[in-house]
Amino acid sequence: MNLLLIGPPGSGKGTQAEILEKKFGFKLLSTGAILRSLIAEGNKDALEVKRLIEGGKLIPDEKIIKIMGTRILHPDCLKGFILDGFPRTVGQAIAFDSMLASAGVHLDVVIKINIDDKLVLERIVGRFSCSTCGALYHKTLKPPKQSGVCDICGGKDFTIRADDEEKKVRVRIEDYHRKTEPLAPYYKSKRLLHEVNGAKSIEDVAKQIGDILDKVGRK
Ligand code: AMP
Repeated sequence: MNLLLIGPPGSGKGTQAEILEKKFGFKLLSTGAILRSLIAEGNKDALEVKRLIEGGKLIPDEKIIKIMGTRILHPDCLKGFILDGFPRTVGQAIAFDSMLASAGVHLDVVIKINIDDKLVLERIVGRFSCSTCGALYHKTLKPPKQSGVCDICGGKDFTIRADDEEKKVRVRIEDYHRKTEPLAPYYKSKRLLHEVNGAKSIEDVAKQIGDILDKVGRK
């Protein structure tokens, strides 16, 4: 089964995508993570990609389409994939659709996570991750059990994403409404769209998504 998750930054998309990956074994393709690893590898586009991401800007369509169009053809996606962060504009969705069609692959479900901008800001400003294992935390909403020590790996080094600064988060939320939210009517017209309430707990949102997948018929 091939899924796409849509939602503003901080809506819990990444968390839900990880839950789905563990539960059903679909390959998680998070564009943010894929791009950050391109930067870490020092790929030829690394500097430009880094500048755009750190400024909270989008990577040009042709670049991201090429990266993701190639990625979904990898054998680890045969059992299904979960897209988190791509397509992010209707232009990307149209180009992606023609790539999927020529590869004989299709999207089965699109899930939109709805949540208020105010709550999103609260969630993102204050989040940080373990520099060693990547575990996610939040200053007030999800602090490590022992202050300054990662619950998962015991690491003591933490990182704040450069694009999680409040001013940049506001740009990303604005970008979401302007460029990404129009994906909802696009996929609704293809009868693929389902919506969940992202203001609920992680478990509740996971259940809402699970119910949708059961209804659609998981494959
Ligand atoms: P994310 O972790 O999904 O919030 O992505 C982090 C950053 O990566 C975004 O702010 C963009 O700069 C870039 N990015 C991720 N996905 C895309 C995409 N589909 N199109 C363009 N830029 C993207």
